[in-house]
Amino acid sequence: MRIVLLGAPGSGKGTQARLISSKYGVVHLSMGQMLREEVENGSQLGQRIAPVMHKGEMVPDEVINPLLSAQLEGLPAFVLDGYPRSIAQAKYLEALLSSWGQVLNAVFLLEAETELIVERLSGRRVCQVCGKTYHVNFYKSNRCTCGGKLTRRSDDRPEVIRNRMAAYRQSIRPIREFYDSRNLLYQLDANRTAEAVYTDICHILDEQILPYIEWEKEGDD
Ligand code: AMP
Repeated sequence: MRIVLLGAPGSGKGTQARLISSKYGVVHLSMGQMLREEVENGSQLGQRIAPVMHKGEMVPDEVINPLLSAQLEGLPAFVLDGYPRSIAQAKYLEALLSSWGQVLNAVFLLEAETELIVERLSGRRVCQVCGKTYHVNFYKSNRCTCGGKLTRRSDDRPEVIRNRMAAYRQSIRPIREFYDSRNLLYQLDANRTAEAVYTDICHILDEQILPYIEWEKEGDD
């Protein structure tokens, strides 16, 4: 099963990806997380992309695409969050998978109101160990349930949130049309709780995606 999650920053992609990954046993790949790790490790690449990420701007494709390719190669099943963020990236992913004889099975677009997103991101805290997210209004401790320290992402500041939202709004329409034309797109109302969105995703995967993959596999045997 190969899945892509699309949506504005704060629409819940990371949360849904973690839930899907643990239920269906597929690898969760978060492009943003991969990049943040490069920055935290202080690698040469990390030093180059840190200022771009700090401003909430897009990291160039010549950096992103080789990282993606290295992570995806040989993976039979994944849920990808944070990629693609442009039509060029969508085409790159399609060509990459096709070169391995693979295709995507589903693309979920999480749609949420801008005000809700700004409110979610400005109170968001992320566990440094497991990546789980919390909101300061609903969780008062500064430690995750796993014991990890909760911190604020450096790009979750109001002025940077605005940049990230602008980048998202500019790019999403052609990406949506691209996946719609390939009959892969499922649009979900992400103004609801994470549980409600997840229930819908599982329903679609169980009823419409997995039986089809099983059926294709039988055809191959
Ligand atoms: P995210 O964790 O998905 O919100 O991503 C955090 C930051 O990483 C973004 O604001 C970008 O600077 C960078 N980034 C993540 N994914 C991509 C991508 N597919 N293309 C370019 N930059 C990206």
